[in-house]
Amino acid sequence: MRLTGSCHCGSVRFTVESAQPVPFMRCYCSICRKTAGGGGYAINLGADFNTLAVTGKRHLRVYRAQMSGTGSSSQQSSGHRHFCGRCGSALWLWDPTWPELVHPHASAIDTPLPTPPSHVHMMLGSKAPWVEVEGRAGDACFGQYPDCSLAEWHAARGLSSPSAAVSETAG
Ligand SMILES: [Zn+2]
Ligand SMILES: [Zn+2]
Repeated sequence: MRLTGSCHCGSVRFTVESAQPVPFMRCYCSICRKTAGGGGYAINLGADFNTLAVTGKRHLRVYRAQMSGTGSSSQQSSGHRHFCGRCGSALWLWDPTWPELVHPHASAIDTPLPTPPSHVHMMLGSKAPWVEVEGRAGDACFGQYPDCSLAEWHAARGLSSPSAAVSETAG
């Protein structure tokens, strides 16, 4: 599925091919909450980094969070959180650990996204006390990272979006 996204002020616009466009994964970690989750969590999608096309690149800024380490040293998050330097909208996360992937924030996407049949709630151990976990009975909940990837969740439910090439062939 081809996704079109933008920041609020319109300085940055992008398109990307996504095989995992269902906005089901809610992350309650402090970074998502502070940078992209006014309601207490952020929703990331899965997409193909090599198809990411951006206009307004000069307005892009990257935030790399400082993680409080267990020892004397704190370390920098490998996640590169891209946002608009003019309006502050959170746009996507890219991590060199998985360079072929990019994770757009659902909030930055203008294309109508599929409604998720269920949700996964992750990083609940970092949830702020005021945040209510609003989900459905049977939603999977994890204190830290979930036991399935975005791709595995979509595949298990038959919700993976075919690539553009496949849908064009299918007519
Ligand atoms: Zn902007
Ligand atoms: Zn998070």
